[in-house]
Amino acid sequence: MTQDIATAAPTPTTAAAPKIGFVSLGCPKALTDSELILTQLRAEGYETSKTFQGADLVIVNTCGFIDDAVKESLDTIGEALADNGKVIVTGCLGAKAGEGGGNLVRQVHPKVLAVTGPHATDEVMDAVHLHVPKPHDPFVDLVPPAGVKLTPKHYAYLKISEGCNHRCSFCIIPSMRGDLVSRPIGDVLGEAQRLFESGVKELLVISQDTSAYGVDVKYRTGFWDGKPVKTKLLDMVQALAELAERHGAWVRLHYVYPYPHVDEILPLMAEGKILPYLDVPFQHAHPDVLKRMKRPANGEKNLERILRWREICPEIVIRSTFIAGFPGETEAEFQYLLDFMREAQIDRAGCFAYSPVEGASANELAGALPDEVRDERRARFMAVAEQVSAAKLQRRVGATMQVLVDSAPALGRKGGVGRSYADAPEIDGTVRLLPPEKASKTLKVGEFTRAHIVAAEGHDLIAMPV
Ligand code: SF4
Repeated sequence: MTQDIATAAPTPTTAAAPKIGFVSLGCPKALTDSELILTQLRAEGYETSKTFQGADLVIVNTCGFIDDAVKESLDTIGEALADNGKVIVTGCLGAKAGEGGGNLVRQVHPKVLAVTGPHATDEVMDAVHLHVPKPHDPFVDLVPPAGVKLTPKHYAYLKISEGCNHRCSFCIIPSMRGDLVSRPIGDVLGEAQRLFESGVKELLVISQDTSAYGVDVKYRTGFWDGKPVKTKLLDMVQALAELAERHGAWVRLHYVYPYPHVDEILPLMAEGKILPYLDVPFQHAHPDVLKRMKRPANGEKNLERILRWREICPEIVIRSTFIAGFPGETEAEFQYLLDFMREAQIDRAGCFAYSPVEGASANELAGALPDEVRDERRARFMAVAEQVSAAKLQRRVGATMQVLVDSAPALGRKGGVGRSYADAPEIDGTVRLLPPEKASKTLKVGEFTRAHIVAAEGHDLIAMPV
């Protein structure tokens, strides 16, 4: 995901407030880091610039996960240096080592002013202060209570922890972001409340490993609203559900690993307290491949677990990502994965052909497969995934669903685009809303509408607002 966050929101104007250009690259976790930095910049009275040339300094928040992302980040830094000259780099790529163990960003772009890893608002602000001194008289009161957000006003990501205790063999995130550090429960719930109060209608809970929330602090008891609350997935989700109910909003969970304790939150989904939607990054189904991947919960019986979830909450939608062609994957192991897809009926699935990431331990595994085999398996996987998904979407035709409106030109009289509980923003399909038949009906961005599903097309549904 790429966002030019210099355009994120109107800025307060002062006569001589310095201007900061900002580019945010990478995943939602990087996006929340960008939001924290932008919030701090705004709180201190800095303005943002829409162009590199018009800025006093540029911050680039980078992604370092796969080779394409590394290239995009390095290219963006190069453009900012060419157009502006004063550049601070933050984010995952900033923590990555280059040849000989030095810092990769500094090796490629020695002229950058400062480089930090992810989740480093204080360090970034220190570097900003050094090169573009703080304006006097900051307009602190002009910062929205929920902070500066890069998402549309009606949905927001809530990051509950940073880092990860696992060491999946294909992943270098722990080496860039460190071990799991859970945010205090009071801070998490306080931020959720401010977001709901500022008009957010859908809260997307994110982290590297949402199921592990609180493990690092031994599920310490914190305080929220004058009451003790444990730093634990179930307790957090219950509290978020209460807050969401008060504000008529949705809560959606991402990056949930299928540990047994996740079963405890299924009743909340069945009762409609949080969305019956789980984003579970399975990556594979065969136990031996999962072991080679060193995946969390690799000993769990995932198919049985999913079937049990569907018994408790038949409405549940499961999204997942997979890797095809992992080193040593046999045809039989791959077939096992296809069978799993069919039996588990994963509603939304993405699949990458395995690609080695520099620094990942999987690179040392024997049995690397030729590129053609990896690509061919990815295509075969996606054919099955699309069949499953299309059949499930088709079954929704005739139903009436609650839809959150994301866009509605001409006050929605010409229709619009929204999403149901089954669609997370950016990664899933949409509900395309037809122009309402009733003259009195209008669609408004950020509000819910009921809609009658009339057709399914590709990953999307088509619906008549009612
Ligand atoms: S769970 Fe695995 S893939 Fe996810 S961040 Fe941790 S190590 Fe990486």
